[in-house]
Amino acid sequence: MTEQERYEKIDLPFYRGEVRPILPAAVLDFHAHVWSRSQWRQVPYEDGSPGGRYMVVDTEYPVESLRAHARRILPDNEYEAVCFGMPTPQADVEKTNRYLAEAGVAGWVYPLMLAGKGLASREELEEALTRRAFRGYKVFLNWFGDDYGERTINDMLSPVEMEPADRLRLIVLLHVPRAGRLADPVIQEGVRALAKGYPGAQIVLAHCGRCYLPDEMSKAVGCLKGLDNVWLDTSMVMDPTVLQIVMEELGPERLLFATDFPVPAMRGRRVYLLDHWVDLVLPGPSPSAYRVTSNDMRASFMVYEIILAIRRAAERARIPEAELRAIFHDNGMRLLGRVKV
Ligand SMILES: [Zn+2]
Repeated sequence: MTEQERYEKIDLPFYRGEVRPILPAAVLDFHAHVWSRSQWRQVPYEDGSPGGRYMVVDTEYPVESLRAHARRILPDNEYEAVCFGMPTPQADVEKTNRYLAEAGVAGWVYPLMLAGKGLASREELEEALTRRAFRGYKVFLNWFGDDYGERTINDMLSPVEMEPADRLRLIVLLHVPRAGRLADPVIQEGVRALAKGYPGAQIVLAHCGRCYLPDEMSKAVGCLKGLDNVWLDTSMVMDPTVLQIVMEELGPERLLFATDFPVPAMRGRRVYLLDHWVDLVLPGPSPSAYRVTSNDMRASFMVYEIILAIRRAAERARIPEAELRAIFHDNGMRLLGRVKV
C-alpha cells in the first residue's frame, strides 16, 4: 500500500468516523515543535551523546511541515499551535528563538522562547520580552533524552526567568526531569514552590508531568491540588486512565490538548509495559530508544490516539460535552488571553 492509499483507505475514514465528531471546528495544540538543522549545534543521535537516542526525529521540521501535518491529519479542523524549537543543548538558542519570533507573524503560531536558568541575563530576557513576540517560555532542558541525572526544577529555573513570568502572566511550559517524573516527591515540591512563589505565572506541565502510566499519575495528581496556576498538556499521553484521573481529581479545565508534533505524526500508539512507555509504530520512522516497529498491526496517526484517549477518559469521568470540547481549544485560549505582552 502506498502512503496515499493508506491515507485514503485507513486514516481519513477513521478521522471522519471516530475523531472529527469529538473535536470543535478549531483546535488549539498547546505543544508543537518546529526547527531546522541550521538552528542546531549538533545532532545527539548521530554523535553518541548520552541519552541522545531517546527520541530520534527528522532534522528538518520547519513551520511549513507542521502546517502540512496538521492539514493532513486534521483536514477539516482549523489548527493553531503553541510552538517552540528543540529545547535541548543541541539547539542554538538564539537562532531558534529568532525563528520562532518570525513564525509568530503568521498568526496561527503562538511562539514560546527557549528560556532557563543561566541561559540569558535578566537584561537580555527582559529585552527579548519587550519585543512582544513570545507568549512565554519553553523551559530549556540542559540534557539529552533521559540523561537528566538528579536535576531538579531549581536547576532549570531561577528568579531571572520567573519574576517576569509572574508579572506578565507568561506561559511556562515545563518538562519535568528525573526518572520518577511528577510522581517524584522532589519534583512535586519543586512544582508547588514554583506555583506558589510565582502565582501570576501560568505553569503548564508537558506530557501531563511525563505521567504516561496510570500508576505515575495516581501518585502525582495529589500534589497539584490547590494550585490554580498549573495545567497539564496532553502531548503523547494516550492512556485514558491517566487522563481520567486528572479529570476526576483536578477537573477537565486543567487539561490542554497537545500533540508534540512532529512525534505523533507517526502511525502507532504509545503503550506501556511493566513501568515504562514504548512507542509501537508502523515502519517508516528511524530507529529510536523505546520505539518498536512492526507491520503486523493496523494503525493510524498517534494524534488520533491522544484525541481518543481524551474522549474515553471523559466518558468514564462523565464530563459534559462542552467541557470535553474546551480541552481542545478554549482551555488553552483562556491561558493565552491572559498573557500580558
Ligand atoms: Zn515536546
